[in-house]
Amino acid sequence: MTWDIERRKCLRCGGCVGVCPVDALKLTENGVKIDEEKCINCGKCEKICPVGAITVGDKE
Ligand code: SF4
Ligand code: SF4
Repeated sequence: MTWDIERRKCLRCGGCVGVCPVDALKLTENGVKIDEEKCINCGKCEKICPVGAITVGDKE
């Protein structure tokens, strides 16, 4: 797992979606979805999330 989101915490504010440099995040009806193929593990989404819902791990 390189990226994880705690769905119960997420406010669906869209902050992480806007900050992702490779457009890997999408806001959907069921919360934020990630395209793990695109993610470069930059950590920007983790930093910007106001409720700490995102954890970015190491890419293998
Ligand atoms: S870690 Fe960076 S590249 Fe990956 S989803 Fe978050 S903002 Fe996008
Ligand atoms: S920044 Fe955090 S609270 Fe906002 S949509 Fe992304 S995961 Fe949810």
